[in-house]
Amino acid sequence: MTASTDALMRRPGLWDRFGRSAVDLRVSLTDRCNLRCTYCMPVEGVPLMPAATALTDDEVVRLVRIGVERLGIRKVRFTGGEPLLRRGLVDIVRQTKSLDPVPEVALTTNGIGLDRLAQPLAAVGLDRVNVSLDTIRRGTFLAITHRDRLQDVLAGLDAARQAGLRPVKVNAVLLRGVNDDQAAELLNWALDEGHELRFIEQMPLDAQQAWQRSEMVTADETYARLSERFRLAPDDEARGSAPAERFRVDGDRGSVGIIAAVTRPFCGDCDRVRLTADGHVRDCLFARDETDLRTPLRQGATDEAIAGKWKRAITLKRAGHGIDDPTFLQPDRPMSAIGG
Ligand code: SAM
Ligand code: SF4
Repeated sequence: MTASTDALMRRPGLWDRFGRSAVDLRVSLTDRCNLRCTYCMPVEGVPLMPAATALTDDEVVRLVRIGVERLGIRKVRFTGGEPLLRRGLVDIVRQTKSLDPVPEVALTTNGIGLDRLAQPLAAVGLDRVNVSLDTIRRGTFLAITHRDRLQDVLAGLDAARQAGLRPVKVNAVLLRGVNDDQAAELLNWALDEGHELRFIEQMPLDAQQAWQRSEMVTADETYARLSERFRLAPDDEARGSAPAERFRVDGDRGSVGIIAAVTRPFCGDCDRVRLTADGHVRDCLFARDETDLRTPLRQGATDEAIAGKWKRAITLKRAGHGIDDPTFLQPDRPMSAIGG
């Protein structure tokens, strides 16, 4: 049975018809990026949103504040595009950490520029950082991202660790015939470095719309490849409502996560909501509809009115991402514009 929209609107927090409440806000701070990962963006880039439609720093902070103060948001993750390209990032994090109640604040980044920014971000209260890295080989990095920047990412990772943002989580996507033979190598490196590695299945979110399920390296394949080199034991306690299936590696060497976003969707436990850099709420990575909060915000709407619009948007959240439905359509916005 699903609750009526009126009942959901009266309930404190961001509730949907399927009994889920969104407490984890992902905020895209820009749709720009300095890499061109093949599974995300074409080499020539994507048309960028006009500067005038992008939220200002104050607007971002106001929407985050409404989420935290009025709607039960407890975790805020800044992402993009590449969030380190946003000039006001450190101040946005500082202001977010000054909210009451204080949310947990995390960042998802490709790591370029983190060598400079890890310390200032940690100083204003950033709690955690996820760095995306699919290979530790320079040639493969260049093939995947179309940029020769592996050393910058590695420097960023070192700086994050030194700034105390530990354990740094490293997110990797395996691509068939490109880096799927490097899963064990990447894990071995991450364990040595003290980073927590998580593999995530490639999702149909590339701007080119070239994703093919048959080409995707599945979570089961990743597990099989890692099992050839390591002893993996399920770490059930660590999972909670998190999407990663976690495994202890070789006893106490560390852990690894495998996120089966496509083959074993975790939509039933989803507690996420997304805000795009131009101020639209998306209730799912794969949502086909968005709710514009920027226009009412710029027209002088009160916090209460904006919170009401946001709540209503979440009541419409669908049960699942539907990648397997025959009618599935990729969202119009690519990953870089949604915020991963
Ligand atoms: N630029 C930052 C970065 O790369 O971490 C933040 C934005 S990026 C869109 C966020 C995450 O989404 C990255 O970890 C990236 O690997 C992942 N991602 C992008 N496209 C994806 C896809 N098609 N399938 C799965 N993950 C994807
Ligand atoms: Fe940029 Fe992140 Fe997309 Fe790679 S995954 S192109 S780093 S936004």
